[in-house]
Amino acid sequence: MPNILTDLFDLFFPPACINCSELLQIKDKYLCFSCLSELPLTHFSCQAENELETSFRGRIPVHAATSLFYFQKKGIVQKLIHELKYHHQPKIGSFLGQWLGEEMVASKRFELIDIVVPVPLHRDKERKRGYNQVHSFAKSLAIALKADLKLTLLEKSRSGQTQTLKNREQRMMREEQEYMLKDAMLLENKHVLLVDDTITTGATMKACADPLCHVSGLKLSLASMAFTV
Ligand SMILES: [Zn+2]
Repeated sequence: MPNILTDLFDLFFPPACINCSELLQIKDKYLCFSCLSELPLTHFSCQAENELETSFRGRIPVHAATSLFYFQKKGIVQKLIHELKYHHQPKIGSFLGQWLGEEMVASKRFELIDIVVPVPLHRDKERKRGYNQVHSFAKSLAIALKADLKLTLLEKSRSGQTQTLKNREQRMMREEQEYMLKDAMLLENKHVLLVDDTITTGATMKACADPLCHVSGLKLSLASMAFTV
């Protein structure tokens, strides 16, 4: 929508806070000041050996890893990600990507990232939802880090039922070998940032990282909107 139409729309239907429904001030985006200040920030970007990094130890070689928020069930972060995922609000992804991108640039631990690669959805799922909720987030990160964005390098080979399998090991086994890397040459000797919305067991990140780890000279870092402890 052109800016003037957005402004007019906002005048008649002022945007409300996603969490508490309070009407937003002009400078606020998606959350009111009070909900924004309650967000559980991790500060992982500037913290070497943070919980997220150590959770991958012995599973995949990770140079550095960060998440913007801790994920809490029924919390504000879950609401934000739900809006992004199911209510067609890709701008929330851009907003979070900008935020995390600034943190990562300031930390100096993520210098010289060459390529940003989002975790793909299966094609059928992406068609059904209309978009991949991680793309707008990955795009903002790539802009902040001055890196290239490659949306289609990884492909999910089958849709699976990972979310309905309760057992952690079952889920991890199912996720294995589900992702294919299309152009390995392009990633040789590159620092790649693999990006997802939420990291829970880390099984999806590991499944995506497995084909990447076979690429010669590739250095891998990870970033997500949220991390479940
Ligand atoms: Zn609020």
